Amino acid sequence: MKTSLEIKNLTVSYSNKIALTDVNFSMETGKLIGIIGPNGSGKSTLMKAVLNLTAKDSGEVQINEKSLEEVRENIAYIPQRSNIDWDFPILVRDTVLLGTYPKLGLFKRPKAKEKKMAEEALKKVGMEDFSDKQIGELSGGQQQRVFLARSLAQDADVFFMDEPFVGIDIHSEEIIINILKELRDQGKTLFVIHHDLTKVEDYFDELILVNKELVATGAVYDVFTPELMERTFNTPLTVLENMGGKLS
Ligand code: ADP
Ligand code: MG
Repeated sequence: MKTSLEIKNLTVSYSNKIALTDVNFSMETGKLIGIIGPNGSGKSTLMKAVLNLTAKDSGEVQINEKSLEEVRENIAYIPQRSNIDWDFPILVRDTVLLGTYPKLGLFKRPKAKEKKMAEEALKKVGMEDFSDKQIGELSGGQQQRVFLARSLAQDADVFFMDEPFVGIDIHSEEIIINILKELRDQGKTLFVIHHDLTKVEDYFDELILVNKELVATGAVYDVFTPELMERTFNTPLTVLENMGGKLS
């Protein structure tokens, strides 16, 4: 089996406050993986450290058994929606076309082939009628689908998505999760930050449980247990059950 992500001795802090301590794990390729943990537990920090978007105190990261630099064009990252500037004036079609740039090479312009890839990606997420709209005019779910389309146009191998299901409609959520499962079935690897415990068993193959350190990783049926959820959320099981977690 090939390794999609290997992390060794990762520690990250922000101005002396430690966000993640000594994280070590490795995951296989071809999995749909949930990164689960409470607010402020270091989920986004983990993703950003892997992608070199935040400084590490220590740690080594390999993606698909290579350095980030070697695989960068095959990595798609969809940040948390709240961190995107929605007033930036850009059309939906151009947002998706940007996905084709990493593989185009320096100073090359997208041509018919890239435009077709972008068009197909928009169709795939059900947003082809919105090509000429400004990204800021869309609903949360529509924006999230457009960003997924951009990653599809990139034809990435490894996807990193930060809370893609927060603040979106159920129709968009269904479209997105079905595409993520399809990508997994094609052998791609997807890391998805998520905090709704009700969907965990339906959505993910494997989990990475985070609470300022690594609590556990493994197949959902091994690690989605009352004990590990209590440790991850520092919350008694009865409260978690009331939050809707289907923990047996
Ligand atoms: P999560 O995504 O699990 O909610 P984060 O990774 O965003 O958690 O944050 C982990 C901790 O690091 C939190 O205490 C947060 O306040 C802190 N933090 C995150 N980003 C920064 C930053 N840029 N500067 C300072 N502290 C930060
Ligand atoms: Mg976060």
